[in-house]
Amino acid sequence: MKTVSILIPAYNEKDVLNLLYERLKTIMDSLGYYHFEILFVNDGSSDETLDIIKAFRNLDNRISYLNLSRNFGKETAMIAGLDYAKGDAVIILDADLQDPPELIPEMLRYWEEGYDDIFAKRRSRAGETWFKKWTSSTFYKVLKKISNIPIQEDTGDFRLLDRRCVNALKNMRESQRYTKGMYSWIGYKKKEILFDRDPRAAGETKWNYLNLLNLAIEGITSFTIAPLRLSAVFGSVISIFAFLYMIWIIGKTLLFGNSVTGYPSLMTVILFLGGIQLLSIGIIGEYLGRVFNETKNRPLYYIDEYNDERNNNEKEND
Ligand code: UDP
Ligand code: MG
Repeated sequence: MKTVSILIPAYNEKDVLNLLYERLKTIMDSLGYYHFEILFVNDGSSDETLDIIKAFRNLDNRISYLNLSRNFGKETAMIAGLDYAKGDAVIILDADLQDPPELIPEMLRYWEEGYDDIFAKRRSRAGETWFKKWTSSTFYKVLKKISNIPIQEDTGDFRLLDRRCVNALKNMRESQRYTKGMYSWIGYKKKEILFDRDPRAAGETKWNYLNLLNLAIEGITSFTIAPLRLSAVFGSVISIFAFLYMIWIIGKTLLFGNSVTGYPSLMTVILFLGGIQLLSIGIIGEYLGRVFNETKNRPLYYIDEYNDERNNNEKEND
């Protein structure tokens, strides 16, 4: 019998967990020929999320959980889950029911047909403002243009990954993770299925525009060095113009003498160049920061407690 792990990162999700479990249970019970493991990753929730998960666990031994030592963010919660998931396939699902678990049977069907990465693409984005939709679509357009890998648009982390994709992702231990790009980067046979993304069932989104901006910068800096190249190109173009301008000024001074004018043009040039220089230094700094973070080579997360299906309760302390 094949094992399928359902990986659910959860951060302060006490309001939705009951509904989530009910819907998952119906689906798991209808797919009797698989062995399911629901792996909750409690990402340092400050509410009763962990207690609720533990209560489910007492009712249903298909449930296991991983309690991280603090809130590490969804990207890290996911890699932690992938490290511990036992399944031949892993399905990543948001806790808030924005990813309908009812798609799981379809994903499993394609998996049986031999696809390795079956991802759910949003047909519509109910409950999101036009501004969020617009910013996200422009971001993908830009990212697609400047990086060499096709990032799947309107796709989240809701997908089924075959064991070999899971192993590939597990090998990528970078600390600042942009998993969305990694799915494309690893390759393997992909299949897209369409769905309508619902608004969150309860609770609040943890994203704000600052997070999204950070994620966007993460996405760009972890997958392309195009901004560095762009600042080099900018520098070269400006140098060429500066050189031509210099020749013109020298020639003019030699021919017509120097009448001290040109304060506006001087200011413009200084400010413009100053701006470009600061921007370029900022871009270099962004990449340098990544290098700094990666060279520390820290573990990605720490586990407070892991409780798997077979009822081994391990308290991890290193
Ligand atoms: N999440 C997490 N750690 C965090 C933030 C979020 O594990 O620091 C989980 C959250 O519980 C949910 C999923 O990531 O299962 C998606 O979060 P959310 O719904 O807030 O994001 P959105 O759907 O708005 O992109
Ligand atoms: Mg959500």
